[in-house]
Amino acid sequence: MRSSPTILHLDMDAFFATVEQASKPSLRGKAVVVGGLGPRGVVATASYEARVFGVHSAMPMAQARRLAPNAAYLVPRFALYRSISEQVMGLLRDLSPLVEPLSLDEAFVDLEAGGTAWDEQSARLAGAKLRADIRAVTGLTGSVGLAASKMLAKIASEQAKPDGLVLIEPGTERALLGPMSVRTLPGVGPATGDHLRRAGIHTVDELAEAGEDELVRLLGKAHGHALYAMALARDERPVVAEREAKSVSVEDTYDVDIHDRVRVGTEVRRLADRCVRRLRGAGLSGRTIVLKVRRYDFSTLTRSETLRGPTDDPAVVREAAARLLESVDTTGGVRLLGVGISGLADYTQEDLFAQAAGVREDTLAEEPEAAPAEERQAPTERLWPAGHDVRHAAYGHGWVQGSGLGRVTVRFETPHSEPGRVRTFRTDDPDLEPAEPLPLVTRRPGEGERAGTGGVGSTSP
Ligand SMILES: [Mg+2]
Repeated sequence: MRSSPTILHLDMDAFFATVEQASKPSLRGKAVVVGGLGPRGVVATASYEARVFGVHSAMPMAQARRLAPNAAYLVPRFALYRSISEQVMGLLRDLSPLVEPLSLDEAFVDLEAGGTAWDEQSARLAGAKLRADIRAVTGLTGSVGLAASKMLAKIASEQAKPDGLVLIEPGTERALLGPMSVRTLPGVGPATGDHLRRAGIHTVDELAEAGEDELVRLLGKAHGHALYAMALARDERPVVAEREAKSVSVEDTYDVDIHDRVRVGTEVRRLADRCVRRLRGAGLSGRTIVLKVRRYDFSTLTRSETLRGPTDDPAVVREAAARLLESVDTTGGVRLLGVGISGLADYTQEDLFAQAAGVREDTLAEEPEAAPAEERQAPTERLWPAGHDVRHAAYGHGWVQGSGLGRVTVRFETPHSEPGRVRTFRTDDPDLEPAEPLPLVTRRPGEGERAGTGGVGSTSP
């Protein structure tokens, strides 16, 4: 392990919810929940104000509504989040060629590889400058963790939240980790956590005291070894740049949506075989099986499962893909299916952990940009997802606060206006149309500031 805290972990604070608050002045300081609004929807991000009520990511939306009935419930605007994410990732790539994104709002950066930092002081400066740059470019806050390993850098950014920076000095890692819950370690999910608790192991110190042999006995060889190393704060995993993460995948688009569940299963098996042929053709094997499904409404989701070891066995890949398919609702019809295998080149501990965590759902890959499949709304109401942008011929730019029964309620405000007023229209009002999101940060004069983004009429009666 390196001797300087030059691995940086960036995590934007309550990203989706913060973007919504920055866009919508009336929601600043208020509980905001972003996610799928259908009966089976889950929370993607809750603002800090909503977390006070116990609302958190991956919680069923119905439960969130019980806990925080007065919060604003919004459908994600992925195109906007993605464009802001690209700005943030661009700032990270200025620091180092080794940037490993984990999601739209989270990434590891190897500062040493970029020559940006080589010791504690230079790392701290780089982290502070990054946070300032992110705020200037996006108007949003991100938290930074700095440490000598990926595991500790991620723990540090968690401690830094919100809007902070924490650096873990090399040599202090074990003392810091010791009293923490075993759940702090990467890959210790609820199941492994329960398993360890039944064995009387609650903290990282207790994990280290149990010893390697006992952990191997409890969790199996790969997971036991890896977890013991983590408990001693040993984490040698390198930061892997995105373009180096290799995968082999195949996909098919169908002219006519497939509704028949059996046919979907057959297609997935066929794609799994084709993917394995391609994998073998390249002389490779891989550990993570990925299933991609695009549904009739263009919502695309991916499911992945990481195996204990690399495989090029078609039966193993077929079975994994079939298991992943079980967790996907295809009742509305399927227009595209894909099967991929990744984790080809590097055999890292992180992936061994993922195996114990079982099926992982990549909520960020889910893009219910239209109404979620489970929301069987009338076509006109589909145009007006809560939180999305609209423009009215007379009142200007606003966002949908709610719709139903042939009516849509719009709040007229923009990122730089005062909190705006609400007006209600018929859903087929010809003066009302969907609009593109407005930028959160206006360019300085001379850099091409656009006229009219101030939301003319947004506060007029
Ligand atoms: Mg985040």
